Amino acid sequence: MTHVTEAELLQHVPNELFINGEWVPAADGATLTVHDPATGKVIKTIASAGVADGAAALDAAVDAQASWAATPPRVRGEILRRAFDLMQERKHEFALLMTIEMGKPLSEAYGEVAYGGEFLRWFSEEAVRVTGRYGTNPEGTGRMIVSQHPVGPCFLITPWNFPLAMATRKIAPALAAGCTVVIKPAALTPLTTLYFVKLLEEVGLPAGVVNVITTSTSGAVSDPIIADPRLRKLSFTGSTPVGQKLIQQSAQGVLRTSMELGGNAPFVVFEDADLDKAVEGAIAAKFRNVGQACTAANRFIVHESIAEEFARRVTERVNDFTVGRGTEAGVNIGPLINEAAVAKADALVQDAVDRGATLLTGGSAIDGIGTFYQPTVISGVTPGSNILHEEIFGPVLAITPFVDEDDAVRIANDTEYGLVSYVFTQDLARGQRMIERLQTGMMGLNLGVVSNAAAPFGGVKQSGLGREGGLEGIHEYLSTKYTLTPDPFAG
Ligand code: NAP
Repeated sequence: MTHVTEAELLQHVPNELFINGEWVPAADGATLTVHDPATGKVIKTIASAGVADGAAALDAAVDAQASWAATPPRVRGEILRRAFDLMQERKHEFALLMTIEMGKPLSEAYGEVAYGGEFLRWFSEEAVRVTGRYGTNPEGTGRMIVSQHPVGPCFLITPWNFPLAMATRKIAPALAAGCTVVIKPAALTPLTTLYFVKLLEEVGLPAGVVNVITTSTSGAVSDPIIADPRLRKLSFTGSTPVGQKLIQQSAQGVLRTSMELGGNAPFVVFEDADLDKAVEGAIAAKFRNVGQACTAANRFIVHESIAEEFARRVTERVNDFTVGRGTEAGVNIGPLINEAAVAKADALVQDAVDRGATLLTGGSAIDGIGTFYQPTVISGVTPGSNILHEEIFGPVLAITPFVDEDDAVRIANDTEYGLVSYVFTQDLARGQRMIERLQTGMMGLNLGVVSNAAAPFGGVKQSGLGREGGLEGIHEYLSTKYTLTPDPFAG
């Protein structure tokens, strides 16, 4: 469907829950509405799961667990590979759907299909590479066997900002490892997950292996699932406060968790940086997804000798942006997800300006239909400004000067988050020092984008626990078993 219209596409998106291989309405008939943030219009009404539906979804995942775990890894991998291939055929539909329900410009939505799809291919290959160890114990009296086993039924909770990639980044390694899942996408952007699970059904995924519950009552539906002793794993991507709450709930049953939480990424530009590359990296790190990314650069920490020039150049670039609905040609800044996001970005800018920052461009909401905020640059942000401590999640580039390397490190690490950092320098030794000195799970060294299915994505400090993608990603869904046997030659 290369030339599918929005109306045709939306008709093909399921509007029900997917439980045990069947599309079903919510048991109590409840529904929720999904909006286009660029127009404010309702684009689809879908089922809203209640507690009974959550229980049914978990029952299905539990029932399917043993046979899925016993399915040969090659077969599991081939299903994922077919899903990857079919997603390539449907890349136009997936991209358009994300733009309609989430607002990101279409060109970026294609980028997310490429990135999100890659987890299917990567883990289709990893499925057959789960290995163990066999060896003699140090005393020579026995043999040690270390083997890997699927954790068991998993509950996956995803955010609204990357509707496809956050789902595939969890579902693909879980299935590759031999785990069944219940997935709960965000209420703001559930359609992409529904459309993706329909694709999984088409490529032959057995009933019960993946179950989807969309809901407007996340807490009420999730609490009993998390408390159920049959659940073996919770993987969450979202904000740190919700993650903290879920960790507390998981403590009761000592549930294994993976947590991909918020960020407050520093973007450090040293005086010896290639300024063209730094500006290029800054635009990518800040304005991708209209700044609504956990990896978005939040604090631009720029050496005082080049701060003015850097600010001038990024402002020039920002003034060239075209704001509009993501489906329109040439648009590179779409809407924010809702009114609350606009109000938050605006409050952070106003607070910074009140505390002495200079507004170079933008700085206010755009009146009219949809939830748009002007792409904004502020410089001279002073210590104590809220924007240095909170995730902006909007198109606001905030610059703070530093005096030397120690100062840059101190400012960069002055946050409870530690997801990703960006560093621009042409001094190799300095770059290596920054790898060691910055408290971060990931780093872009002279690059403004780090995400890759082949890389371990994740943070330190309050940015989370565990890694997604890379060689590490599948281990989040495996448990290690150690067996000791006697020396077979000991008689
Ligand atoms: P959020 O409010 O924490 O929501 C994330 C998910 O959790 C949604 O599906 C939400 O459902 C659900 N949820 C909320 N309260 C819940 C509860 N009590 N029990 C169970 N589920 C609950 O985050 P968001 O606003 O969607 O996403 C933005 C945040 O995600 C940012 O902080 C961003 O940095 C972070 N993020 C992190 C990564 C990463 O890899 N580290 C990637 C992307 C985003 P509802 O939609 O129904 O509220």
